[in-house]
Amino acid sequence: MCTNDCAPVFDVGCRRCERLSDFLEAVARQHPDYYAQPVPPFGDADAKLLIVGLAPGMHGANRTGRPFTGDDAGILLYQTLYDFGFASRPVSESATDGLELVQCRISNAVKCLPPQNKPVTAEIRNCNPFLQAELASMPEPCVILALGKIAHDAVLRAFDVPLSHYRFAHAAEHRFGERILLDSYHCSRYNTNTRRLTESMFRDIFRRSRELLDS
Ligand code: URA
Repeated sequence: MCTNDCAPVFDVGCRRCERLSDFLEAVARQHPDYYAQPVPPFGDADAKLLIVGLAPGMHGANRTGRPFTGDDAGILLYQTLYDFGFASRPVSESATDGLELVQCRISNAVKCLPPQNKPVTAEIRNCNPFLQAELASMPEPCVILALGKIAHDAVLRAFDVPLSHYRFAHAAEHRFGERILLDSYHCSRYNTNTRRLTESMFRDIFRRSRELLDS
């Protein structure tokens, strides 16, 4: 899919980051049944809500080929999407389970699995043109929901605005014309186990996303 003249929103053959490409090759050798490639955005082509995560998880998106699918981070996310009418089912099991997103798309700041779940700054920058092209394809008004600070910063970078002018905070809203960046703590198992992010806090974020889209 190419939505504008300057850049594709995704390239499954991307090898811009040597460290990540080498890591994916090693993971593919170790787990021949894993997807182990750059993970494409998933969802509605006419989405008004774009959710931006961090990067594929080893045994989740990196295994199944769909963002937030197959690991704990996706359990709360897909259930909440379903509860607020953005998903056709509450559970995302695999890339071929028939689940559809409604007015919503999910992507990641970094499309390849990073070692220890930690992309380095150069990798976030290398991957940013894909996010930039994806954001350029969004209609206006739209809501971009950043899950965590790395996603928040990646969106700002893609908008080419100074990171220091827009601080990440849970439930913060930043307006760029008719595009609204809404921040949430990431729905990782660590954050939910420590109750930094509760189910109720996450539901409030989706309630607000719905409100912004409907207003
Ligand atoms: N899976 C993803 O696709 N992204 C995340 O940020 C976490 C898990």
